[in-house]
Formats: sequence, structure tokens, C-alpha cells
Amino acid sequence: FLTGKTAVVTGSNSGIGLGVAHRLAKAGADVVLNSFTDSDEDHALAEKMAGEHGVKVRYIKADMSSADECRALIEKAGACDILVNNAGIQHVTPIPEFPVEKWDAIIAINMSSAFHTTAAALPLMRKAGWGRIVNIASAHGLTASPFKSAYVAAKHGVVGLTKVTGLETAQEKITCNAICPGYVLTPLVEAQIPDTMKEYGMNREDVIKKVMLERQPSKEFATVEEIGDTTVFLCSDAAAQITGTTISVDGGWTAL
Ligand code: NAD
Repeated sequence: FLTGKTAVVTGSNSGIGLGVAHRLAKAGADVVLNSFTDSDEDHALAEKMAGEHGVKVRYIKADMSSADECRALIEKAGACDILVNNAGIQHVTPIPEFPVEKWDAIIAINMSSAFHTTAAALPLMRKAGWGRIVNIASAHGLTASPFKSAYVAAKHGVVGLTKVTGLETAQEKITCNAICPGYVLTPLVEAQIPDTMKEYGMNREDVIKKVMLERQPSKEFATVEEIGDTTVFLCSDAAAQITGTTISVDGGWTAL
């Protein structure tokens, strides 16, 4: 049902962004993939996705830590009916030792990038008379953990920006919402399992349930496909009156 729409997904050469891009392509949208790497693999990924789903897929390099590159990404895309702000990084250190450059990078990539892409995309959505903005926030956009000051601040900021964007577009056929995932099984998370098994002397199942998913009551990871399908739902007509809010996909984390 998204045939003819163009979706721009930031930070989409791996993990959640890639999963979301796949689901949007499956629903018929043309897709713009993005990261800061511009490797042969990035372009091959776009070609493969296009073949798999029979849609147009382009890869456009842009570093989401740069305001200019965020805005240039939308300009180069040419159209942006669906904007998914997903690019993000993490750093875990107590506040007094938290490196200033890490704070600045996380605030820029995880939060400010969404402001810049939204600012560039809204005129295109208004011209098209339709638009969907989906910000990939986090359970950490609604709750906190120690040692993740920049990440938690940025994700709370994204939830705030989501509300303001929802209000500024409330009387148009444009919506803006944030998805707040709990722990999602991405390659990044998968790669941490063997080391954690060694560290705690636990088997895979115990590492997942007792260490990683300590705060996730379902004791199951969310999947990139589930985040993708939630994004597709937010793009549907059924979600036309859902705006300026958050949807948690966190196995009950924020109910605790
Ligand atoms: P990931 O590391 O697999 O993906 C991050 C993506 O962002 C990659 O495609 C990377 O290329 C891109 N990226 C990083 N820095 C960039 C930059 N400067 N410019 C452009 N692209 C850049 O991680 P993921 O788990 O898929 O995370 C994706 C998003 O989901 C992040 O915003 C993250 O905070 C959020 N999230 C993840 C989880 C989880 O458990 N995995 C939970 C909640 C929220």
C-alpha cells in the first residue's frame, strides 16, 4: 500500500534501520538507505533490496553528526514521504568521566539529526500533501539507566521533538510518532553474547534472560522485523490519528 511513496531511513545499513527499510520496501515503498560509510557493501545492499522487493532502492551517504549533511540527504533524496530517523550510537560511562566529544556526538547523531532531517522533509511532505515521520527513540526515551547520560538525554529529546512535530502538523495529513524499543536483537547485540557468556560463566540462554533482558519482563528480545512492522503500521491509514506520541515495543519494560 506504500507504492509510489519514497521512504528515507537514516542509519540503515544494519540493525533496526535495515529491518525497517526491508519492511517498508516489502509494503511497496521506494527506499533511500543511508549511513556514513559509502562502501561497496552499502551499494550492494541497496541493489539486493531492490531486487527482493521490486522497488527502487538508493544508497545515499550522509553523516548524521553534521547538520548540513542531514539536510543534504533529504535534498538528494528529492522526495521524502516517509522519514525514519533511526541513526544512533551509544556510550556508557559515569557523568564525571563522560568524554565531551562522545556527549556531543550522541546529541548530534541521536537527537539533532532528527531535527535537521525533519526541517528539510516537512516542505516536501507539505507539497505532496501527505507524510509520515517515525523517530526510533528507545525505552530510554521514557526511562533512564545509570551511565547512559547522553543517550538517555538524546532519546528523551527525540520524544519531545516528536510531540512538537506532531502538533505543528496536526491539521495536515502528516503524522510524527516515536517508536520506543526495548532490547532488540541486532547484529551488534548478538556479537556481545559470546563475551558476556565468558564474563559471567553462563550459557547463552541465561546471559540473554538474566543479564541482557534483566529489565525486559517478556524475557524476549524485540526483533527488527517487529520494529519494521510497527513503522509500516504508523504509515497506514489506520494510524492517521496517531500523532505526537510514542509506541513502546519493549516486552513490558516501561510498565515496570
Ligand atoms: P546499529 O549499530 O546496528 O545501527 C546503527 C545505524 O546507525 C547503522 O546503520 C550505522 O551505520 C548508523 N550510523 C551511526 N552513526 C552514523 C552517522 N554518524 N551517520 C549516519 N549513520 C550513522 O544499531 P541498532 O541497534 O540497529 O540501532 C538503531 C537505532 O535504534 C538507534 O537509534 C538506537 O539507539 C535505537 N535502539 C536500539 C535498541 C537495541 O536494542 N538495539 C533499542 C532501542 C533503541
